[in-house]
Amino acid sequence: MTKKRYIISIALLVLLLACKSSKKEFSNDRETQKVDYFADNGFGNTVAIVQHPSGVYHKGVTYVAYQGPLEDPYVASYNHTTKEWKGPFKAGVSQMGKDPNRKKRIDNHGKPALLIDKAGYIHIAFGGHGGTREDGHNPLGNHHYGKNLHAVSKKPLDISEWETLDNISLFGTYSQFVKMDNGDIYLFYRHGAHRSDWVYQKSTDNGKTFGEPVSFLKHKRRTEIEAEDSWYPWVSRGNGDDIIVAFDYHICRDNKNAQDPRGHIPERHNLYYMVFDTKTGEWKNVKNESLKMPLTKEMADEKTLVKGIANDWTFQGITDVDPNGNPHVVVLVGPDIGAKRSGPKRLQHFRWDGNAWLQSKNSNLPRGNGDIEVTSATEVSIYVESETNNDIGEIARWDSFDGGDTFKKNHIFLQRKNSGFVISALIDNPHPDARIIVGEKEEGSDFRKMYLLGDNGPIKRNKEQTIFEKQTINQNKN
Ligand code: ZN
Repeated sequence: MTKKRYIISIALLVLLLACKSSKKEFSNDRETQKVDYFADNGFGNTVAIVQHPSGVYHKGVTYVAYQGPLEDPYVASYNHTTKEWKGPFKAGVSQMGKDPNRKKRIDNHGKPALLIDKAGYIHIAFGGHGGTREDGHNPLGNHHYGKNLHAVSKKPLDISEWETLDNISLFGTYSQFVKMDNGDIYLFYRHGAHRSDWVYQKSTDNGKTFGEPVSFLKHKRRTEIEAEDSWYPWVSRGNGDDIIVAFDYHICRDNKNAQDPRGHIPERHNLYYMVFDTKTGEWKNVKNESLKMPLTKEMADEKTLVKGIANDWTFQGITDVDPNGNPHVVVLVGPDIGAKRSGPKRLQHFRWDGNAWLQSKNSNLPRGNGDIEVTSATEVSIYVESETNNDIGEIARWDSFDGGDTFKKNHIFLQRKNSGFVISALIDNPHPDARIIVGEKEEGSDFRKMYLLGDNGPIKRNKEQTIFEKQTINQNKN
C-alpha cells in the first residue's frame, strides 16, 4: 500500500466511524425526544377557570381532566416519583360535540371537573349545558343543550376504566366539585341555561348517591326592564368547614328588549362574596351576617357586594382566604368584556381587612384569566394567562408580599410567540411541579397541545407518547 493510499484508507475509516456514531446518536435522540406537552388532543376551550378543579394531586400523583375530541372528557395522570405519564383515557361520552349541523361548532360548556373521594375513586362531572326539552321540565330554570353526567373510575386511583352513573341532575352546567375534610362531596352547578338557579348537590357516601339540588342563587324576572337576574359564581374551599363563593351578576336581557338594541349580550356586572358554613348549613356574608337562601339580586346587593361595577363589564370572579379567614377576590373588569380579548380590561384584586374591602393599588395587573392562592396574611399569588404587546402568550405568576396591596410579575412558567393559552383553575392540593393545566391555541386548528405546568416549567413527555387520535365532526378541519 502506498503512503497516499494508506492515508486515504485511514481517512475513509475515520469518516465511516464518525458517520456511524453520529447516526447512532441521532437515532438515540429520536427515541428519547422529549416535548414539553403531554398530549396533543385537547379540543376547543379544553380547560377553563370555571369548571374546576380539573386537576388534583393525590399520594404522589397528579390527575388532570380536559375536553378532548368530540367534546368528550379525557383524564391523564403523572407520577412525580417514577416520572411516568398515564393516559389520557376517554372517561365518558358527552352528548355534545357530535352534531355536524349545529350552528355553534364547539359548545365548550361540558368540560370536566375532577374529584378524588375518600376511598380513592376518581370522579368527573361533564357534558352539560342545561339539557333539552326532550329531557322534560326543568323545575329550576330553562333548557339549552347537552346532559350533565357523572362518571367514576372502576378502581381506586386507576384512570383506565370508567363507569357513567345516573345520579346527578342532567340539567347542570359549569360543574364545580368541592370535597370537605370529612369526605362530604359538594357538586355545584347552574341548573340549566342562563335563566336558572345555581344549586349544589351533596353526597355523604363517596358519590354513590347525591341529595336533591339545593338552590343558593336565584334567577328571577325583573319588573322594571325586560330581563332576568342571572349569576356566575366560582366556588372553592375556605378554612375549616367553609365553602367560599365569588360571583358576578349577568343581566340576562330578552332577545328583543326596549333597553339595549343589541338584544341579549354577555353583559355582567358587580363583584360579590359569601360563605357557606357546611357544618351548620348557614350562608353568611363577610361580616358574618346570616343570608336568606336562595340569594336574590336585592339581597346580594344589600349584603354581599365587594364592589359595584355598574358601567364596566366583569368576567370570572375567583377567591381564596388567608389563614385568618380574610378573603381575597379577583375579577376581570373592562368595557364590553363580552368580546373577550378586546378592550382595556384588567384583573382587579380586592381584599377584606376585617372592616372593609380594599382594592389593590395595581392598575397594571394583566388582562387574562387566572386563579388566586393566598398563602399567608401577607403573601398572595395570582396565576394568569395573558398576551403581551409583542404577540407573546404567557402564563405567569404575579406575587404580592404586602397582603395584596401591590403585585409584581415574578415568574414566567411558559411563553410562546403567536400563540394563546387557555388555563385551568389551580390544581387541588398541588405538587409544586404541577400547578396548572394549559391548552395551547394554534392557528387554524381546534386541537390544543396540553401542558402541565409547575414551578420548574412544563412536565415533559416522550414525543411519541403525546400523539392521540383527533376525531372531529368537521371534515374540513384537521
Ligand atoms: Zn343571558
